[in-house]
Amino acid sequence: MSNDLTRRYRGRFAPTPSGPLHFGSLVAALGSYLDARAAGGEWRVRIEDIDPPRCPEGAADTILRQLEAFGLAWDGNVRWQHRRHEAYQAALERLAAQGLAYPCSCSRKQWREHAVYPGWCRDGVCRPDAPVAWRLRSDLGEQPATFDDRRLGRIRLDPEALGDVVLKRKDDLFAYQLAVVVDDADQGITDVVRGEDLLDNTPWQRQLQRALGYPLPRYLHLPLLVAANGQKLSKQNFAPALATDADAIRRQLFCALQALDQSPPLELASYPVSEQLARATSQWSPSRLTRASTRAVPQEL
Ligand code: GLU
Repeated sequence: MSNDLTRRYRGRFAPTPSGPLHFGSLVAALGSYLDARAAGGEWRVRIEDIDPPRCPEGAADTILRQLEAFGLAWDGNVRWQHRRHEAYQAALERLAAQGLAYPCSCSRKQWREHAVYPGWCRDGVCRPDAPVAWRLRSDLGEQPATFDDRRLGRIRLDPEALGDVVLKRKDDLFAYQLAVVVDDADQGITDVVRGEDLLDNTPWQRQLQRALGYPLPRYLHLPLLVAANGQKLSKQNFAPALATDADAIRRQLFCALQALDQSPPLELASYPVSEQLARATSQWSPSRLTRASTRAVPQEL
């Protein structure tokens, strides 16, 4: 199925609840929210909790409360991936029937000399008695993979260099690549707006969308926020926590608009979140986003 640009815009924010949102994830949420609202579209929230050991109790609820505090109101019900195993399994079986997904008994240790998994199980599982993961045949997709990003333009990546990504793990948990594609299609997502850290995951996702006959969404990958030491913001490197009191929330929202290159007028920083968001939506211009991959976390956070 090809792109159907006549579908009504529907975007989403799809956090993994491995902890509360930090400033970097707020910027991604805000970018996808503004893009959806400016297009008169819907904005959904999906909690990507397919890997329970990585998702501490209560983190998803904290994320939802944080979105509310920043005025980022979503449409419809929150989608929870932990309830979707049957849909992912059905998709995996369709891929296996096409010869695009294959079982793999190899362990990371066995192929540690290689940059990516060398595909040893492609033509038959190496150790039939061992537990298996399921991998995607990256050699059978478009070569090189090309797609358009609304900020970065035409992207060309070599699927062989990216390797045969895992779709289902040996412990029976489904992997992000499969779950994200199945749910984006099931939820009718037309536009994926997310951090640039996921840019090189997109070729696998396009290959899966084509193989499963899903519509291809548009992509806008947003710049990443980096700490003073140049590292991507993460829980491990002390990303500034999101504020909980009203004044600080206003300031952080304003800083997030700056990080999205929207040059908000200074007086906006003291406006209530609803007014900041209304103004930012009416003036949202993704073409102001420069191609630089990173933005420094503002000092004032
Ligand atoms: N769950 C992913 C994350 O938190 C994002 C998924 C996506 O936007 O495609 O990094």
